[in-house]
Amino acid sequence: MNKEVLITRLRRVIACLLFLAVVLCLVWSKPMFDPNKGPSAPADTKGSFSPGTYKSSIKGFGGEVEVTLTIGENGGIVDAEIVGEGETPEVGGAAIPKLREQILEKQATDVDTVSGATITSTAVKKAAAVSLAQAGGPAVDEGPKAADGNLFIAGTYTGTSKGFGGDVEVTVTVSENSIDDIKITGDHETENIGTFAVSMLPERILSAQTTNVDAISGATVTSSAILRALQNALTEAGCDIDKLPAAVAKDSNAPKTDKTLDCDICIIGAGGAGMTAAINATENGKKVILLEMMPYVGGNTTKATGGMNAAETHYQAEQGIKDSVEVFIEDTMEGGHQMNNRDLVTVMAKNSAAAIDWLDSIGAPLPKVGFSGGATNARIHAPEDGSGVGAYLVTRFLNKMNELNIDVMYETKATELISKNGSIVGVKATSSDYNYTINSKAVILATGGFGNNQDMIVKYRSDLKGTVSTSAPGAMGDGIVMAEAVGADLVDIDQIQLHPTVEQGTSMLITESVRGDGAILVNQEGKRFTNELLTRDKVSAAELEQTGGYAYIVFDQRLRDGLKAIEKYVSIGITVQADTIEDLAKQIDVDPNVLSETLKTWNKAVADKKDAEFGRDTGMEKDLSVAPYYAIKIAPGIHHTMGGVKIDTKAQVIGTDGKPIPGLFAAGEVTGGVHGGNRIGGNAVSDIVVFGTVASNSAIAYCDK
Ligand code: ADP
Repeated sequence: MNKEVLITRLRRVIACLLFLAVVLCLVWSKPMFDPNKGPSAPADTKGSFSPGTYKSSIKGFGGEVEVTLTIGENGGIVDAEIVGEGETPEVGGAAIPKLREQILEKQATDVDTVSGATITSTAVKKAAAVSLAQAGGPAVDEGPKAADGNLFIAGTYTGTSKGFGGDVEVTVTVSENSIDDIKITGDHETENIGTFAVSMLPERILSAQTTNVDAISGATVTSSAILRALQNALTEAGCDIDKLPAAVAKDSNAPKTDKTLDCDICIIGAGGAGMTAAINATENGKKVILLEMMPYVGGNTTKATGGMNAAETHYQAEQGIKDSVEVFIEDTMEGGHQMNNRDLVTVMAKNSAAAIDWLDSIGAPLPKVGFSGGATNARIHAPEDGSGVGAYLVTRFLNKMNELNIDVMYETKATELISKNGSIVGVKATSSDYNYTINSKAVILATGGFGNNQDMIVKYRSDLKGTVSTSAPGAMGDGIVMAEAVGADLVDIDQIQLHPTVEQGTSMLITESVRGDGAILVNQEGKRFTNELLTRDKVSAAELEQTGGYAYIVFDQRLRDGLKAIEKYVSIGITVQADTIEDLAKQIDVDPNVLSETLKTWNKAVADKKDAEFGRDTGMEKDLSVAPYYAIKIAPGIHHTMGGVKIDTKAQVIGTDGKPIPGLFAAGEVTGGVHGGNRIGGNAVSDIVVFGTVASNSAIAYCDK
């Protein structure tokens, strides 16, 4: 190669590198999403405004919204730049490009409000109108305005905003300077999560007399929707939202008052296990204190969607279902890779039918019996109307607790177990105002798991770092830490269950019942790849082997009609829907021929009662043939921490010396041993009801000693 050729080539390489660098710089310097990137109006658009650039800003939902209008030589609006960095991205932020498009198209600022984004829309429209007025446009109507010195125009006003499951409506009654009454309707919000925000926020708002109050943690989507709807209503009442009092920040260093309380049994955690224990102990005449760190009850129990496994129940007998306690035990052991503590499993299985009877007796029947992954027989018991078992039970437990006058000490976090001469004699707890010393004859730990505590997840399973979790906010592992501090032993602590069907964007768990009722899983190639009703670990592992580590759960209208839980998935927008399999395939970018072949093969397997491909033999009562068809993209998520505090068959906590720690009992997800290496769907609810009762009975007996 001669020197000249070499130099030319070198020059070309340098030019290419420079070009690449410039392109990269441009890409990097560009914002991720530019709401103003849509087409502008033609430069010669005609109008009656004065050419130039006009800017103004108005307060939106999360800060100032600035609108810059450019008027072209011919007097038309040729561009509208809208900046609202503080707006909620998926609500107000998403509305901005739509508003811009309308302003340019209509050549005016009185455009349609974007539904669900009233505050941002109003701010954009007002700011645009002010800018246009500067350009000689119509004078701006300021809207209703309270009289000088007043906050509101007295009256009753209604505002709406988009919540988790649909519109949330707030009706507020105000006099000149006070918010007097608030009514919130949010019928589509998640039961026992969003609904708590609906019931709790009015009091917070009324006492603070402002919209600047904290969201209910764990229910932030519903809380934000309520506060937005309230702002909309108050704007109608002529209120300048900026003039409302600021949030009263609690001084975290403010001294707390010491308070001592006494009871027979202190129960830590008001999830399923804690509430069961509290009801049972109170019905047996014991004075109970029930601590709950969150502002609401329910914990992970609320999120249980499938049902409760129980064998030899009257519902099974009535429905002609043959099952036995022995098969239940073997299924659980098999599902848990024989790692389970057989004695604990036996207690759970033997007492499961009685637990179903007890639920009947407190007004929480679970009559619908079906199949679930890993179960030989139809054993999972669910509410009649197909609603999620957890939220259903939590509502009924709460009703029963109200009937028995059991008060929950909300937002009170247990921090330490009080030990005296090796026995547990109480609990230290803290709230925003008090440091409690609770003296009790016995303590029941019912604090749930640690699925939401990334540090603990990483400590025990570093391979799961960063994995999405379906756990409730209180699943922080506090009970495990407190128990260890008084010498408790832990079992199977690294056994963490992944649930195979979690929608990753929302962490929404798609209940096992969807597969139990006949849904299939397909990969991005449109093919089934597993028996969908194998145990959760196996299905999760199979998914992780597919392209991208995800799959689609596919079902039809018949299945949707029979399962209320599906309505939630549809309402939060995670389902893809189509009138034909081919259309569904197109929407999820799967080959339509392959998907329709997969469905044909599956429907034939259902008709023949033989799944030649993967040997599935349950959840095959109905095929998938009733349009419309649905698909949800899913992947595994952290669902249940199966290990925890070691207990014996009486739910006594066992110390590292192998002996029970006197006065300390535990039940539910905080314990280990029941589920071994893999929890069968439907066994968590059996665990909390059976062991909640066992722990309660043991604590009662201990108190009476
Ligand atoms: P389980 O299914 O075992 O009943 P849940 O997750 O349903 O478990 O309920 C556990 C409850 O315990 C949750 O409501 C959670 O907020 C509460 N909790 C966890 N840690 C504490 C703590 N330190 N103090 C008070 N409550 C707690």
